[in-house]
Amino acid sequence: MLSRQFIIFLVFSFTPIFLLHNLYAQKADMPIQTLIIDPGHGGKDPGTVGKRKYEKEIALKVSLLLKDSLKKYFPRMKVLLTRDKDKFIPLHKRGEFAQENQGDFFISIHCNAMKNKARHGVETYVLGLNKGQEGYETVIKENESVLFEENHHEMYGGFDPNSPEAAIYLKLLKDLFRESSLSMAERIQKNMCENLGKNDRGVKQAPFVVLYMCGMPAVLTEIGFMSNLNEESYLISEKGQRAIASNLCKAIVSYNRAYGQALPRKPNATRNKK
Ligand SMILES: [Zn+2]
Repeated sequence: MLSRQFIIFLVFSFTPIFLLHNLYAQKADMPIQTLIIDPGHGGKDPGTVGKRKYEKEIALKVSLLLKDSLKKYFPRMKVLLTRDKDKFIPLHKRGEFAQENQGDFFISIHCNAMKNKARHGVETYVLGLNKGQEGYETVIKENESVLFEENHHEMYGGFDPNSPEAAIYLKLLKDLFRESSLSMAERIQKNMCENLGKNDRGVKQAPFVVLYMCGMPAVLTEIGFMSNLNEESYLISEKGQRAIASNLCKAIVSYNRAYGQALPRKPNATRNKK
C-alpha cells in the first residue's frame, strides 16, 4: 500500500495537473478525447485463476475489443491501453501512463471472484471508502497486484485509506471527479445489465490503488465472476467478450453524448483537436 511520503508527493505534484486538466476537459465538445483502458493484471500477476482461464487474459481480450469498437464510433478519440500484451505493469505505472498521456477518463477492466460460487453479475466501482464485507473482499483481491511488485513495501508500505494524508488525497479526487466517475459507472451497469441480462450488483465505492494512482475520472468494472462456472463460460467465450466490449462501448458513447450535448457550444465553433 502507499507510504505517507508517496501520498504527500501525489497530493502536491498532481493537484495542479488535475485542476488544469479538468478545466480543459470541460471545454471540449467531446468530453472523452483521450481514453485510458486498463486491462487488469498481466504477466506474473494472473489475477483470478478460473477453472479454464486467468483473469488477465479475459481483461486484455475485452479491452482490445473495446478499443476496436470505440474506433468505429469515435475516429478522433485517442484510445490507449496500459498494456496490449501479457505483461506485468505495476499499479503506480498505470496511473503514471494515464497522467503522461493526459487521459480524460480511466477505465480498469477486471473479473470478480468470491468464495461463494453462487455469486454472479456485474459491479462497477468508483474511488471511495468501503466497509461492506463483499466489496472488501473484492478490493483486497484487486489491490493484491502490488504484492507482485519487487519494491512494493517501499512504494506502498503502510498505506491506510483512513490516514489523514490518504483522506486528503481521497477527498480531493472524490470532489473533483465524483460526478463524472459515478455517471460512467451507472451507464456501464445499465448497459451491461439491461442489454445482457446480467445481475446488477450496482455501483459501489472502494479504495482501489489503481483508481488512486490515475488522478482523473475513473471507474473499475468487474465484468463477471470467474468463480461462477456459468459466468466463467460466458467470460471466456468470444461471443461473451464481444457482447461485453460492445456494451462498455455503448456506455462510453452515452457518456460522451450526454456530457457533450450538455456543454454550451459557440455557433461556429470548430472541433478541438489534440
Ligand atoms: Zn482483477
